[in-house]
Parts: sequence; C-alpha cells; structure tokens
Amino acid sequence: MHSSFEEAFTLHDNLVLYRPAWPGLLADTLFWGGLLYLIRGSFRSLRARRRRRLGRCPACAYDQAGLMPDAPCPECATAHEKNRR
Ligand SMILES: [Zn+2]
Repeated sequence: MHSSFEEAFTLHDNLVLYRPAWPGLLADTLFWGGLLYLIRGSFRSLRARRRRRLGRCPACAYDQAGLMPDAPCPECATAHEKNRR
C-alpha cells in the first residue's frame, strides 16, 4: 500500500512523456535558473571584492596603483562607487 506522497515520487517504468509537463518544466526552470543566477552573482561579487582589496579595478582587474582614488578606470572607464572601503 502506497501513500500519495510515495506515489508522487515513484519513477514509473515505461513512462514516456510526449508533451512537456508544463507545471514541472516551469518549476524546474525557475528553480535551477534561479540557483545558477545566485551562484553566478555571488561568484562575481567575491571576484570584485577581491580585486578591490588588491587595488585593482573590480570590473576588469586593471592595476590602479598611482591613480587618484576616485578616478575612473583608464582601461574600461568604470566609475567607482562613492562610499567604497
Ligand atoms: Zn577597469
């Protein structure tokens, strides 16, 4: 005797989908797309923080030694945030 929970997560033999299962496809797309988006965002944030700490442009990693503190990057023209540490 199976509960409805077990029934919902049981892989059925010989089950072939001929049409997209839209609710599941939509849920999977949102979940995995959102997860990848968050992972990519945190990777970029960590990379920019590391570049700032090393005195480099957060966008292109150009070495900013000898430049005025609020000067835009001479390599990629990225302006710096006003209240950066
Ligand atoms: Zn730059």
